Amino acid sequence: MTALPEARGEARGPFPDGLIDRVAQEMREHGQSPALRSGALLLESGGGRVEMDLDGGRFRVRIEAGDATAVQRLRGAMLHMLDHAAEGLTDRMDWIGGPVPGSLPPNVVFAAVAGVTRIGANFLRVELRSEQLETFAEGGMHFRLLLPRPGRAPVWPVVDDRGRTVWARGEDALHTPAYTFVDLDPAAGTMSFDLYEHEGSLATDWARAAQPGAEAALSGPGGGDFPQGSWILMGGDETALPAIRRILARSAPERRGHVFIETGDPRDRLPLEVPEGISVTWLARGAGPDLAEAMASVPMPAAGESRFVWCAAERGLVRRAKALFRDRAGLLSGEGYFSAYWTASA
Ligand SMILES: Cc1cc2nc3c(=O)[nH]c(=O)nc-3n(C[C@H](O)[C@H](O)[C@H](O)COP(=O)(O)OP(=O)(O)OC[C@H]3O[C@@H](n4cnc5c(N)ncnc54)[C@H](O)[C@@H]3O)c2cc1C
Repeated sequence: MTALPEARGEARGPFPDGLIDRVAQEMREHGQSPALRSGALLLESGGGRVEMDLDGGRFRVRIEAGDATAVQRLRGAMLHMLDHAAEGLTDRMDWIGGPVPGSLPPNVVFAAVAGVTRIGANFLRVELRSEQLETFAEGGMHFRLLLPRPGRAPVWPVVDDRGRTVWARGEDALHTPAYTFVDLDPAAGTMSFDLYEHEGSLATDWARAAQPGAEAALSGPGGGDFPQGSWILMGGDETALPAIRRILARSAPERRGHVFIETGDPRDRLPLEVPEGISVTWLARGAGPDLAEAMASVPMPAAGESRFVWCAAERGLVRRAKALFRDRAGLLSGEGYFSAYWTASA
């Protein structure tokens, strides 16, 4: 059997107390379900596998996946979570395996804008063309736009000699908002995504100004596997609408459940293809129950039945929804996905 591509990282102490538990908690905040076993952690995600353990003063990480892009993608996600769980730890890690130092990370793709169309009062559909979209074929529903700050020439990321993707900082730091593929056809070289326009948004400014042929840099794919469960309860705001649409379109016709979508403007209630056994309720933000309350009002199938709760919206609202479901429905971590899609300014 051929060995799968892998990357191995290692760091020596000191480590903060409960490092593995902290990492596991960070993963859960990102909707992942790690398994913990006596000082070790195992995560199967996005077609790959991550093992971490802390033993004899060494912290070790092993990442294995089907191709180099997936390894680097997973490594990027792990480094991000480790940075939150234990500040400074990733700077001390040595890696074996992965891309050649100095090269562009394999999960960065360049595309050309094919067109930008208005599809809702506050929604633009952006269509892109690229020969490199095969990179996005497996591993998640989402990608990131890589946007230079206004007036700055782009400084793209490179992989450093420790296998870490190094991003420009300061004035050259890229803005990297996440989006969801609406259509993705690597063979035809086309993809599209729907962008919710809002105040103070660099991504909105970019999309409004983008002319056909303009270069777009993307990284991904990542995050948010298609949820399981023959019964599903979903809730989201405008930013989650593309993901909800994809999940519903991929759902088996016999799937049952309820979907709540909150919008600030009724003209953003875009059409959805919905299996017969799933109800869709549109909520007006600021009037009546909010997303978390509406979702919590639905009677849940008993524990042990095939059920899944999915929620993506503003961070505070998602936290509240998660707490409600943990307390009231005793949801297991593999039965739920709660993801902050954006954070309201304080
Ligand atoms: C996995 C994932 C998938 C996503 N998919 C999509 C998608 O398909 N389509 C989509 O439109 N968005 C999607 N989002 C949300 C999007 O990434 C964020 O809204 C992001 O902040 C947009 O970047 P920006 O440049 O517009 O604004 P930022 O520079 O990030 O923020 C600028 C200001 O806008 C505010 N802000 C950010 N988002 C919103 C909002 N939705 N409403 C009101 N104010 C806001 C911030 O609080 C801040 O004050 C997704 C997010 C995640 C994590």
